[in-house]
Amino acid sequence: MPDRIAVRPAEPQVDLKARVAAAVEGDRAEILDLSHRIHANPEPAFLEHNAAAWIAEILRGRGFAVEHPAGSLETAIRATYPGGRGGDGPRIGILAEYDALPGLGHGCGHNTMAASGVGAALALAAVADELPGEIVFLGTPAEERGSGKQIMIDDGLFAGIDAALLYHPCDRNHVESHPLASEDVDVVFTGLQSHAAADPWKGRNALDALILLFSSVGLWRQQLRPTTRVHGIIREGGTAANIIPERASAWFMLRSEDQAYYEEIKARFIQMCEAAALATGTTAEVTVSGGSTTMRNNGVLAARFRANMAAYGIEDMGDDPTAGSTDMANVSWVCPTIHPDLAICDDGVPAHSILFRDAAATPRADETTLLAATLVAQTAVELFSDPALVEAAWAEFRAG
Ligand SMILES: [Zn+2]
Repeated sequence: MPDRIAVRPAEPQVDLKARVAAAVEGDRAEILDLSHRIHANPEPAFLEHNAAAWIAEILRGRGFAVEHPAGSLETAIRATYPGGRGGDGPRIGILAEYDALPGLGHGCGHNTMAASGVGAALALAAVADELPGEIVFLGTPAEERGSGKQIMIDDGLFAGIDAALLYHPCDRNHVESHPLASEDVDVVFTGLQSHAAADPWKGRNALDALILLFSSVGLWRQQLRPTTRVHGIIREGGTAANIIPERASAWFMLRSEDQAYYEEIKARFIQMCEAAALATGTTAEVTVSGGSTTMRNNGVLAARFRANMAAYGIEDMGDDPTAGSTDMANVSWVCPTIHPDLAICDDGVPAHSILFRDAAATPRADETTLLAATLVAQTAVELFSDPALVEAAWAEFRAG
């Protein structure tokens, strides 16, 4: 048996990066078991009780100080592990999502994110004796609806974080993406019931208002900028054909890649709701969720993640042109942030589909999950080891 110390590279960072990779490999079974368990038990936004409990249990078992629930969200987790090297050091946030899509399951593959985030945190804890600062694992619920990360930001759970790292599954490899600002809008029209044949003139038709709103949006689309999205579904449209509908409701989403333009379209959408109510003699109640923002990709962090990918022979395919929306973007306004995507399936498989859901539990997804844990942990090691890198990320952040 050769002396292993003697063959270690001289650069301490290189050594630590190899050790976190080995730690992920050592935890392979536990990481993949977590991914598969969450995949088999999909829980929608704010209701991720099993996933959060399983994650908290694993981290507690490995010596993390675990807050769960954390802040105001029952399914949020904040778990910390101190570096053993002493002195001032950064607090590096390792994030994990675990919500599923109603009626579809893990069609966005968040089970792989939960598992890779846990894997990265465990790998860093394995070398924590040689790190300064603090490892902060943040389990972030409700990405698909409700912007859980914004709630956690408001709860103060991101205070003092120097960098936020996570991975998201995709059909391609991208380090940077440009998600759209997005909000959910609930619209309810209220009118008055009457007999649809005997005395329809006595009623005020809430469904008519909703149809007018959809027509307005349909016409409006021609004048919208190409990267703007307005899309909705009807939730309630009346109860019987012989009753003038008293209540009709819809769930819309508004999105734009430009934060200022987003505010314009939101104001316009609300005017359209009011116009439809005016035209039909009904009233409109519009509730805007408070959603996700545009993303500020941190180039300093992205360059490190990209270099770590390259060491595994993975090429960055360039910015993702078709990003949806994510509350990770909200975090990017709080501290230096990256949201890299790694492929779990062939190019062209659409996210939020049955195909993508099924891909999220395949051997290929498993390998990506483990690699993502390694790359996130390696990028964190570089930040822990190099105060100048953290400072450079913040300098870019402050420059806007
Ligand atoms: Zn997602």
